[in-house]
Amino acid sequence: MHIQNVEFLISAVSPQQYPEPNLPEIALAGRSNVGKSSFINTMVNRKKIARTSSKPGKTQQLNYYQVEDWFYLVDVPGYGYAKVSKTEKAKWAQMLESYFSGRSNLTLALLIVDFRHDPSKDDQAMKAFFDHYNIPYFVIATKTDKVKKSQWNKHLSAIYKGLDLESIDQILPFSAETKEGREEAWEIIDAVLAG
Ligand code: GDP
Repeated sequence: MHIQNVEFLISAVSPQQYPEPNLPEIALAGRSNVGKSSFINTMVNRKKIARTSSKPGKTQQLNYYQVEDWFYLVDVPGYGYAKVSKTEKAKWAQMLESYFSGRSNLTLALLIVDFRHDPSKDDQAMKAFFDHYNIPYFVIATKTDKVKKSQWNKHLSAIYKGLDLESIDQILPFSAETKEGREEAWEIIDAVLAG
């Protein structure tokens, strides 16, 4: 997949700022630091369309990108960040609830998890959200370059069980380092957007 135009649109803090829902939309969810920005950059072959950083992002803003005239890509803020206050967490949960329940053009959600670790409670909650709102989703298990091939099945199985998935094929191993899974991720996106 060769993408020419990716444009950062807006960090939306309220639904009024979301772009008009006139393109399909793909949401990327995952905890801070899991590798969401690196995933975006790898997918579009750029160094820093999405800024990578080890600091927690703002918990209540949705970062919107437009990919060609094809779809919106939305970076949903990281969750489960220990230093966030209870009030912040509640606001964040509310924002997610209204986003996932009400965004008419939302076509696919990608849940980014760390290939090395068992899914967290927040990963499980996010998957339950997708089930509840009937949002098609796929799990991207990133940082595969950090796991020996001989251990892959064990990690895939832990993610499959931990998220209570229907099929292990809902997990795509991915690495921003080696670009493992990049083509397959585009195939998934292409197929879902083609309807
Ligand atoms: P975000 O907070 O979810 O956007 O995470 P980032 O994309 O900023 O990544 C967090 C850290 O993990 C950075 O230091 C990245 O370089 C690193 N990282 C992200 N993806 C990978 C990967 O596939 N492999 C390895 N080895 N490191 C990665």
